[in-house]
Amino acid sequence: MNYTTQMDAARKGIVTKEMEIVAKKEQMEIPELLRLMAEGKVIIPANKLHTCIEPNAIGSMLKTKINVNLGTSRDCVDLNKELEKVNDAVKMGAEAIMDLSSFGKTQEFRRKLTHECPAIIGTVPIYDAVVYYHKPLKEITSQEWLDIVKMHAEDGVDFMTIHCGINKNTADRFKDNKRLTNIVSRGGSIIFAWMEMTGNENPYFEHYDEILDICQEYDITLSLGDACRPGCLADASDISQIEELITLGELTRRAWEKNVQVMIEGPGHMPLDQIEANMRIQKTICKGAPFYVLGPLVTDIAPGYDHITAAIGGAIAATYGAAFLCYVTPAEHLRLPDVDDVKEGIIASKIAAHAADIAKGVKGASDWDYAMSTARKKLDWEKMFELSIDPEKARRYRASAKPEKEDTCSMCGNFCAVKNMNRILDGEIVSIYDE
Ligand code: SF4
Repeated sequence: MNYTTQMDAARKGIVTKEMEIVAKKEQMEIPELLRLMAEGKVIIPANKLHTCIEPNAIGSMLKTKINVNLGTSRDCVDLNKELEKVNDAVKMGAEAIMDLSSFGKTQEFRRKLTHECPAIIGTVPIYDAVVYYHKPLKEITSQEWLDIVKMHAEDGVDFMTIHCGINKNTADRFKDNKRLTNIVSRGGSIIFAWMEMTGNENPYFEHYDEILDICQEYDITLSLGDACRPGCLADASDISQIEELITLGELTRRAWEKNVQVMIEGPGHMPLDQIEANMRIQKTICKGAPFYVLGPLVTDIAPGYDHITAAIGGAIAATYGAAFLCYVTPAEHLRLPDVDDVKEGIIASKIAAHAADIAKGVKGASDWDYAMSTARKKLDWEKMFELSIDPEKARRYRASAKPEKEDTCSMCGNFCAVKNMNRILDGEIVSIYDE
């Protein structure tokens, strides 16, 4: 192999098998894909050791991709349950799975994913370090934090969230400029606490070049973590968030100098009217690197419905340049999601991604809607179910309230506008009342 990473290949004009697959899926010419990848605007996260992967690319001009977070926790440690969720997520079309396991046999689960799952696999090594070393946070050494990154690379993960943007400088800014909900990123809070207790610089920032070397060796995509993403509307677009973003911009440049693929993580909670500006600022500071947003949740008041608050924000974010949406489930802020929560979260996220793809004019995106509307006009119920984003639910709803007139639905019956318009335009009589 005469290239290190997919980015390196693109810069050398080498067309990898992953690029060929992606170009076909995205209906994109190879030279255009190569140019965007060479510039860092499109990435193909694919660890050389994840041989069962079905590659996908992430970039704002491509189809918007979605990620599903899963993994064990101290209270929910059943690996089989998590694997069931993984299989459902892949079947439902999630392009990526992030394993956020923070308890139990984390390596066994991670290796199962990279040996059996065709989706892009991401992890957050910082969580795993706490599980793996099994000792007080303060006693974990800088070298040990880095060793976990190497371990995840060897286990075959395709991208890693590394919280390297919260260095001492950002931490000072954060302490000087009080926030309502402080740091809500799990990894961010861990590394901030470690820095406070040890007085040391963030090892992921201090030893960033070593991390880049690992990423280059295995072709790991760096997902530059946003420790200071706002956790409530009141903290959105504040000094800590922007300060960290500037650091992430600099770290993006350094990664690209070593041909390491990068994406940038983003908010968080954010009022609807701030989303567009945030997307534009990120694009400018990080020179068009793909933006991976965690929501954004457009209001703080809807626990139980945060798949909806996130889908509203995600659709707007993706319309203005986000490339990758992290799903949010109805269980957000409340508990570890169960199988049904995962399904609801995926559907909401897919709707947001698709709505944005239509707005962005992604090739082929609106064909799906055209086909659905054609079936609707013909009152072709089977076709409508088949084209539904959730065929099972569509079928179940219709079956639960059978209409008297089979071709209509129980909403309007004889008043069915679609049926009556078809008839009158075909020259038939429409009487409604006595039918
Ligand atoms: S009955 Fe009403 S809601 Fe149902 S298909 Fe016809 S127009 Fe649409």
